[in-house]
Amino acid sequence: MATVQPARSLSRAKVSPSAEAARLELLEYYLLHHEDLARCAHASLEWLARHAGVKRSMCLVVDGDGGVLMGMAGYGVPSEEVELFAWPLSDARDPIVAALSASSPVLFRAGRGNGHAGRPTPVTPLGAGPFTAVPLRGVRDTGQGALGLLLLRSGSGVSSEISWLAIVLGQKLDQLRGRGSIAGEVRKLRRERSLLFTIINAVTDPILLTDTEGRLIVANARAERLFASSEEESEGRRRAVELNNMLFSAALSRTAVERPAEARELLLVDPSEGSDLLFEVLSSTVEDPREGTGVVSVLRNITDLRRATEQIEENYQRLRVLEAAARTERDRLNLIIDSVADPIIVTDPMGETILMNAPAEELFTVPPDAPESAERNVQANDAHFSSFISGLLLGETGPGAVRRGEIGLASPSTSEPIPVEAIAGKVLTETGELTAVVTILHDRREALERARLYEQLKLASEELQARVQAATAELATQNELLRRQAIELEQASRLKSQFLANMSHEFRTPLNAILGYTHMLLQGVAGDLLPAVKRQLQRIDSNARHLLTIINEILDITRIEAGKMPIQLSEFNVNEIVPEVMAELEAVIARSKLTITPKLAPGAPLVRSDRQKVKQIVVNLLSNALKFTHQGGIEIAVQFDPEAQTVSIAVTDTGIGIAPEHHERIFEDFRQVDDSPSRQYGGTGLGLAISRRLATALGGRITLRSSLGQGSTFTLTIPPEAPR
Ligand code: ADP
Repeated sequence: MATVQPARSLSRAKVSPSAEAARLELLEYYLLHHEDLARCAHASLEWLARHAGVKRSMCLVVDGDGGVLMGMAGYGVPSEEVELFAWPLSDARDPIVAALSASSPVLFRAGRGNGHAGRPTPVTPLGAGPFTAVPLRGVRDTGQGALGLLLLRSGSGVSSEISWLAIVLGQKLDQLRGRGSIAGEVRKLRRERSLLFTIINAVTDPILLTDTEGRLIVANARAERLFASSEEESEGRRRAVELNNMLFSAALSRTAVERPAEARELLLVDPSEGSDLLFEVLSSTVEDPREGTGVVSVLRNITDLRRATEQIEENYQRLRVLEAAARTERDRLNLIIDSVADPIIVTDPMGETILMNAPAEELFTVPPDAPESAERNVQANDAHFSSFISGLLLGETGPGAVRRGEIGLASPSTSEPIPVEAIAGKVLTETGELTAVVTILHDRREALERARLYEQLKLASEELQARVQAATAELATQNELLRRQAIELEQASRLKSQFLANMSHEFRTPLNAILGYTHMLLQGVAGDLLPAVKRQLQRIDSNARHLLTIINEILDITRIEAGKMPIQLSEFNVNEIVPEVMAELEAVIARSKLTITPKLAPGAPLVRSDRQKVKQIVVNLLSNALKFTHQGGIEIAVQFDPEAQTVSIAVTDTGIGIAPEHHERIFEDFRQVDDSPSRQYGGTGLGLAISRRLATALGGRITLRSSLGQGSTFTLTIPPEAPR
C-alpha cells in the first residue's frame, strides 16, 4: 500500500481555462441535482472518465447503520455488481477499511503481498489489476474516517483532476449527510431502482432509455445483451454490440425524423450466436424534469414472426401455383372427357355430379324447347344412374373396385329407349380415401343390333348348312349310283375286252390257215395258176394280212387293258431301231416315193427298255407318216437330252397335218380325224392309242406338234431305264 499526496483545496490548484470550464460544468450539475446523490456520483465518475482518463471506477459510501461500505455508482463496471457491492467495516485491518482512515489515496498493486499482513489485493468489481482508493471526506472532518471511497482503475497516481473531484464529491456527501442518512436514502433509491429493474428485466423484450443523441442511459438485461459489452468479452461479441448500437442509433434518428410514433423494423445481430434478429422498434420520447428529454424504446423480437410470415407467404404462393396446376389439369380433363364420344359422368362420394361431358348432358339435362316428357325422362335417367352408383358406393370397397352393369335409359327428347352398359370406377387418394366416381356409359343399341343381325345370320347359315347337307347326301347317292355304274361299266368293259380277246384269238386261227393256203397256192403247190387266178389270190392274201393286222391290234389293246402285256427289258442302242423300222416298212416306203431321212445320235447312251415295244411304236408312227403324206419327205431323228437324261425319236412328215382341236382326241381308242364312212384313209384308229399306252408302260410319253396342212411331228421320249 502506498499513499499519494492529494490536493486539498480548490484555491491552490492551477488549472487551464478548459479544465476550469469542465469543473464548473460538474459543479453546475451538483447544484441542479443537489438532492440526488446517486446521480451526482454517476456524473462524477463520467466526468473522471472524460477529463482524467479513468475508464473504470466506482464510488462507495459508508453506511453507518449497517456497518458496511456499499456501492453507489460505477463506470465501466456492470451496474448489478455495483449495486451488490457491500464491504463489511468490522475488520479494521482490512486494506479497504484501512483506506477509509488513510489521510491520502492508497494504491493497491496487483498480486499478493501488498496488503496488510500479506493479505491479497481485495477483489472489487473493477477486476484484477492495480487500483487506487481515494477517501472522500467532508468539510467538517470529524476524524472518524472518510464518508466514502473512490476506487479508480489506475495505478499511475492521482492527478489534480482526481484530487479535485474527490474533494467536491466528499463535500457533496457531507452536505447530504447533514440532511439525513445517505445510506437510508441510497437504500430507498436502490429499492426503487431495483424494483424498476426487476420490472423491466421481467419484460422479455429489450427496453432501453437513451438520450436524444442515442446514448444508453438505462437498459434491461435483454437490451444489455444486445447493446452492452465489457472488455473481457470476445472480440466478435464486442463488434456485434458496436454494430447493434450503430444500427439502433441510426434507426432511432430516422424514427424521430420520419415517423416519430410509428413502429419500424430493425435488423440486429445476436452477439452470442451471430445470427440475424429482426425487431420491431416502438419508440416514444419522455420528458423528465431532471434528466431532460429521453427516448424509451421497446424492441419486439419479430424474427420468428417474420419467419412465420415468410413461410405463410411461401405456402400461399405454392398453394396458388398448385391451384393453377389443378385448374389446368381440370381444363385438360374437361377437354379429354369432352372429346370422348361416350357419355362420362364424374360424381363425388355423395353421388352428386361434379362433371359431365356433352354426350352425358344430352341424357341427363332437359334440352330447351323439349316436350314435357323430356323432364320425366331425365328424372328417370337420373334415378337409374343414381341407383347404379349407390351400388358401387355402398358395395365393393376395394381400391380398384369397378362396377359394370346395364342401365335402361331413354332419350330425353324422343323417349327412344337407350340401353347402356355402365362401367364405374372409384378415384381414391393416396391414403385410400374416396374422392370421386367416374362412370362411362356405352350405348348398346348398335351392339344389340349387331347381335340381332348375328342371330339372323346364324339362322341363315344353319339353313344353308342343312341344305348343303341335303345336297351332299344327294351327291353321295349320285356318287354311289355312279360308282355302281362304273363297276357295271368296268365289268362290261372287261367282258368286252374278254370277248374281243377271245374273238381275236378265234379269228386268228382260221385267218392264218387262209393265209397259209393262199401262200401255198401262190407258190404253185397245186400247179401253175392262170394269171387272172393268181391276181385274185394275191388280193385274198393282201386283205387277209390287213385283217390280221387289225386283229393283232385289237388283241394288243385288250391285253394292255387286261394288264397282260409283258414287258421284256434289255439294254440296246436306240439308233439301231431306225434302220430296222425302215427295213420293215421297205415295201410301203418304196410305194410312197417319199424320201426318208434318218438322223441318228451317235453319242446317245444305251437304254434299258423293251426293245420290241419301242420298235412297234416307231413303226406305227412312221406308217402313219407314210399314210398321211403325199409329197415331200419324212425325217426320223434320234436325240439325247443330257440334262433330262432322256432319249427321243421324232418322226416328222410334210403331210396333211392335224388341227389343234384333234391333237388329244387322236390318241383315244378307235379315234380318227375323219371317221366318216366315206373316209379317205384306212385304219382302225387304234395305232396311236396302243402307242401311247406302250410309251406310258415304258415310263415315257408321246408328244405331238402339228397344224393343219403343215405336216406333223410325233416324238417318242423314253427314260434311260424303264420302270419295272
Ligand atoms: P389309224 O391310222 O389306224 O386311223 P391311228 O391311231 O394310228 O389310227 O391314227 C388316228 C388318226 O390320227 C388317223 O386316222 C389320222 O386321222 C390321224 N393321224 C395319225 N398320224 C397322222 C399323220 N402323220 N398325219 C396326219 N394325220 C395323222
